[in-house]
Amino acid sequence: MYVSTWGLASAGPVLAWTKLEVRAERGALLRVSGMPFRAAQTAQSRIRAALAPLGLRWPGKSFTLNVRPPVGGDASQLDVPLALCVLAILGEVRPATLATMGSCGSLGLDGSLAGWPDGLAAWFEHGTATPPVLHPPRPEGVTPSHDGPTWGILPVAAWAHPGVSPPDGWHACNSLAECRDTLKREAWGGPRPTSVLPGPAPSATVPDLEGGNATKSGSATWDALHGEGLAKTWLSIGAAMHEPVLLVGPPGVGKTSLAFASHGLLPSLEGAEALELARRRQQANMSPPALHNHGTTLAQTPPLVAPHPAGGTAGLLGSWRRGLPVPGAWALAHGGLLFLDELTEWPRPARESLRHVMERHVLDLHRAEGACRWHANPWIVAATNPCRCGQRAERCVCPAHERHAYRRKLSAPLLERFPIQVEVGHDASRPSRTWQESRDWVAAIRRDRASGGALPWTAEAESEAQSLSQGNSCSRRVSRAVRRLAEGHARWTNRAEIHDVDVRAAWDVTWMARGGWWQD
Ligand SMILES: [Zn+2]
Repeated sequence: MYVSTWGLASAGPVLAWTKLEVRAERGALLRVSGMPFRAAQTAQSRIRAALAPLGLRWPGKSFTLNVRPPVGGDASQLDVPLALCVLAILGEVRPATLATMGSCGSLGLDGSLAGWPDGLAAWFEHGTATPPVLHPPRPEGVTPSHDGPTWGILPVAAWAHPGVSPPDGWHACNSLAECRDTLKREAWGGPRPTSVLPGPAPSATVPDLEGGNATKSGSATWDALHGEGLAKTWLSIGAAMHEPVLLVGPPGVGKTSLAFASHGLLPSLEGAEALELARRRQQANMSPPALHNHGTTLAQTPPLVAPHPAGGTAGLLGSWRRGLPVPGAWALAHGGLLFLDELTEWPRPARESLRHVMERHVLDLHRAEGACRWHANPWIVAATNPCRCGQRAERCVCPAHERHAYRRKLSAPLLERFPIQVEVGHDASRPSRTWQESRDWVAAIRRDRASGGALPWTAEAESEAQSLSQGNSCSRRVSRAVRRLAEGHARWTNRAEIHDVDVRAAWDVTWMARGGWWQD
């Protein structure tokens, strides 16, 4: 069986469409040209993992893979088109469907689609009514070539422009499963699925044009992601105590999946909040919340907004358009989750403004066109690579000065506003609560705190907190955060009072704000 498709890969400083051809036949050999053999092998194991959530296994066949033009270094750029070829070989989609289409994005081990390439959102004029199509004409940064796809699949996260639809023929997907469903519909000539915009994705509803039933997109739980007990525990505590979380780890270890799943921990919005949110979504020219999902209207589902760094300060905080204020991701995430991927990649003004709105929960937008003010207090989860190469400390290939320059992008005042700092990617432990138990726990703690509940401190905990902050001369903001997190930890472990072990656990997750991050 022969399958071909297109993938986006970097060719020197630019991105170019790359043709992938796969021949599958009887046997168990892997032959590769146009890509390092080792890279193809690791791609194979990543795709094998991503197929599992679809209930599929890697086909027991010999593969001949040819990539033109050849790609060097990071072949993970081609994971998505390769995975689609494997779906065709498994008979899940038709090979003819793949031949004319292109795809990109980075594929998580849980089958999620993340936002690669980084510049994708910048290809769209912010706020233009008719976004340029990828072919033709080509956006800047993509080498012109006579060949290339005329339609295809892009990750929702790479889109990340509230209110801007993908160009005609291009579909934004959250996972490999969604890619498969989209391709099936294309092949049948059935109605095109409505693309999921980043506003309510991934747990919001998507209209199912065929059956009229609403379907849930994206993974609603984090059960599919093994281990990461520490991250899951502290994301739950963060959701319950409304404390911002920063996830640190190499690409592809599930930071985005964890963050998107955490959105499911948040309780539904109350009436007034839901109304306010609907008003803002209207201002941002997003679709009205008229869909139903298991009896909950979209407006009651807390928003999940995952803007892309390329959207810059305007995308994050808002702008004026045709004389009207347009809320940015921060205001649109009110009552829900604001997920900031690639925190270091945001322009400095955006990162610094973020610091202010996280402190004051108010944003005044003064522009030549006028002034306006938004109040918002979304729960913020951010993710970052530990350095440019993204590898763990022992495998990092970055020169020390580059690593330090990269890390200095996250200033001390900014890091202090993300008191929960968790490393993701090499933690095999399991959290002490299941997904559903975590969800119920978050709701219970939020109710208790809303009615003024607070835990008492033991004398040992008090003295531990004091000696840790004095002995390490940390800022008052960090000391206060440690106290709040210690309470969250005590509640998580069902203690009726805060003990010194809770203080130490809280202290451990504030490690980046204490200097080690910049000097490492
Ligand atoms: Zn590195």
